[in-house]
Amino acid sequence: MQEQIYLNGSFVTKEEAKISVMDRGFLFGDGVYELIPVYNGKPFLLDKHLSRLDNSLAMIEIKKFSNEFRIKEIIAEIISKNKYRNHFIYIQITRGIHADRQHIYQSKIDPSVLVMGQFSKPYTFEEIKNGFKAIIHEDYRWRRANIKSTSLLGNVLLKNHAAKQGMYETILIHNDKVTEGSASNIFFVKDNKVYTPRLGNELLSGVTRNLILELLQSNKYHVEESEVTKGEIKSADEIWCSSSTNPIAPIIEVDGVSVNNGIIGNVTLATHKLVSDFISKY
Ligand code: PLP
Repeated sequence: MQEQIYLNGSFVTKEEAKISVMDRGFLFGDGVYELIPVYNGKPFLLDKHLSRLDNSLAMIEIKKFSNEFRIKEIIAEIISKNKYRNHFIYIQITRGIHADRQHIYQSKIDPSVLVMGQFSKPYTFEEIKNGFKAIIHEDYRWRRANIKSTSLLGNVLLKNHAAKQGMYETILIHNDKVTEGSASNIFFVKDNKVYTPRLGNELLSGVTRNLILELLQSNKYHVEESEVTKGEIKSADEIWCSSSTNPIAPIIEVDGVSVNNGIIGNVTLATHKLVSDFISKY
């Protein structure tokens, strides 16, 4: 059977799924999304992802969609219909379809809802153990990166800026402060203490970020959510990026300069183990 996805009330194949050109997601990027890992057939930290989705929807004033119970059913159905084991579930909710292209939105329209799977191959330790390289760039995105918006052009350009140079990630700086990566949150270690930028409008409240903070705190690490300067990143003992796609991506070079002589540090290794153990027990 062909892979099934959910679009506005029906389960269909990707080829069958059609959406109007008047959808505001298409015209304005007027929508929000979530990407939820599925490990061994089970969605990972589902409630945390759905609560972030609710927050994103509230911040862009989509009020009609708050049927968390139904979305859980749809996710379960997509997983079982497609027999997903290790996959991602992608949810996208846009403001819906207007008769005209106009900025001002009406409250009467129904949001468009898409839920589909995306293949994932979880990173193995072998694939991360040599670390990744990163580059620093001005964060020129809009100043509401706390909304998980489908308007990702800034992130897309900044990720490609890194990829074109054979790098894994772009670390973003605004007013001399680190905000996040183009598709990840940033952690650094100095003198065995772990730091990550404090939440605010300029970065996403990463589900992986928040899990790492909890795991480190309950294992008696010194962790601080603070302002992180470009200078601190450049003189860090260890750095890693966190995301659902690659929970701990150790960074061993920033702007051509080695971090910890290009070797993954002990705190990064310990954190990787804490997160991997948590995932396997989940
Ligand atoms: N920041 C940005 C811009 C992202 O795109 C992502 C994930 O895609 C993250 C942070 C990490 O969020 P999460 O850990 O919830 O995947």
